[in-house]
Amino acid sequence: MRILVVEDEADLLGALAKTLREEGYAVDTAADGEEGLFKAESWAYDALVLDVMLPKLDGWELLRRLRRTRKTPVVMLTARDAARDRVRGLDNGADDYVVKPFDLPELLARLRAVIRRSSGQAHNAIEIGPVTIDTVARTVHRQGEPVILTAREYSLVEYLALHRGELVTRTMLYEHLYDEDDSTLSNLLDVHVSNIRKKLGPEFITTRRGHGYCIEG
Ligand code: CA
Repeated sequence: MRILVVEDEADLLGALAKTLREEGYAVDTAADGEEGLFKAESWAYDALVLDVMLPKLDGWELLRRLRRTRKTPVVMLTARDAARDRVRGLDNGADDYVVKPFDLPELLARLRAVIRRSSGQAHNAIEIGPVTIDTVARTVHRQGEPVILTAREYSLVEYLALHRGELVTRTMLYEHLYDEDDSTLSNLLDVHVSNIRKKLGPEFITTRRGHGYCIEG
């Protein structure tokens, strides 16, 4: 999953990006509203974390313009005591909000929830044959036994599972699993898929030659 964080307070932006990366997300950042809108329109992010008070273009205006072209889930960062702001945000197409100063675990939970809703997934656990994926704990079990995946392998499994039954192209995977700072050396999709098959079974991921990958629904 790839997240865009738009926040002008450098310390907070850095802390958010670090935490989200530790949680296994690919993370891009923007420090003002114009850069944020440009990136949000340019890439198919799985979610945005969007501050309200931003230089150049505020969070509301960014959201209003973004909604002309994209339905990307948005969690707003609003000021304390700004109840009207929150109503306005939800009216303008925000999916959820947290009030500053917020707990990181709360933000992470809300992000997971908006991403899950946008993919039509009602529950935290996804079952695919003998494999169970827990999207909160970020763990995978096969026939009840824990399977150890690397962060990258987990991200790939989760993305395919949230799109089960659909063809997921390599382009989609590059867009959703890697951020703008990733080096190409870590981008060896075939190697990750091969390792996942060793751990979860050869038929777990189907390769559609020349097109991409699929977890059959
Ligand atoms: Ca701000």
